[in-house]
Amino acid sequence: MTKKLIIANWKMHKTNTEALAFAKQFKNTQSRKAKVIVAAPFTDLATLSVAQKDFQLAAQDVSAYDEGAYTGEISARMLKEVGAEYCIVGHSERRIYHTETDAMVSAKVQALLKKKITPILCFGETREERDSGKTKVIIKKQITKGLQGVDDVSEVILAYEPVWAISTFQKGKKKSSASEGDIAQVHAYIKDLLAKLFGNQGQRTAVVYGGSVHARTCENFIKYDDVDGVLVGRESLTVASFQDIINTVE
Ligand code: PEP
Repeated sequence: MTKKLIIANWKMHKTNTEALAFAKQFKNTQSRKAKVIVAAPFTDLATLSVAQKDFQLAAQDVSAYDEGAYTGEISARMLKEVGAEYCIVGHSERRIYHTETDAMVSAKVQALLKKKITPILCFGETREERDSGKTKVIIKKQITKGLQGVDDVSEVILAYEPVWAISTFQKGKKKSSASEGDIAQVHAYIKDLLAKLFGNQGQRTAVVYGGSVHARTCENFIKYDDVDGVLVGRESLTVASFQDIINTVE
C-alpha cells in the first residue's frame, strides 16, 4: 500500500524553541499508512533533523543557483546538509508576493533534483481564473512549465492548491474551501493529464491537495485514489489539529 503524504507547511511560524516543542510532543500515529513531512522555516531545519524521527523535513523555498553572490538565498546543497529531503517550490504566496514565474519555479525544481531533494511543486488557479472557466488551462500550463526538462517526473510531488481555497487569501473575504466534488474532479483531470503527457512516469507521480484542509474536510477526500495526500497550512501549527488530520488516513 502506498502511504498517503501528509505535509505540513508552517510558513513563517515557529522559532527554534517552538519547533522543538512541537517535535517533542508529536507522534506519527498512522506511520504504517501515512508519511509525514514538515516544511519548516530554514532556521528550524538543522535543529529538527537531530531532534526527532517522526517526520521528514522539507524546506519552503530554494535558490535556483548552486552558489554565489546571492544575498539572502539558500542553496539546495545547504538544504541537503541540514537534512531537508523535500522542498516546496512555486507556492502561491511566492508566486504572488514575490512575483515568481513558471520559469523561476522550473529552475528551482532543477536545482533540487540535482541534489536529490524531492520538489513539492505547487500550482493552482485563482478565483478569477476559475470563474472564467480557465482552471484546466492554468493547471496544464503550470504543470508543464514547472516540469520542463525533468527526466523522471515521478521524482516530483505535485501539490494542487487552488489559490482561492488557501486560508492566506481569504482574510476579510467570504471563506470558500474546495468541496469534495471540486477536489475529486480536478485531481482526476490532473492524473489523466500526467498519464497523457508522461506515460508510466506520470502515472506514478503523487498529487496532493492543499487549501484550508481541516480534519473535518480531509476525511471526505483523503480516501480517493487520485488524492495522494494533503498539504496543510494553518491546521498544521498545533500538534492536536495536525494529528487529527493524520488520523483521517485509514
Ligand atoms: C498552504 O498555504 O499551502 C495551505 C495549504 O494553507 P492553508 O491550509 O492554511 O489554507
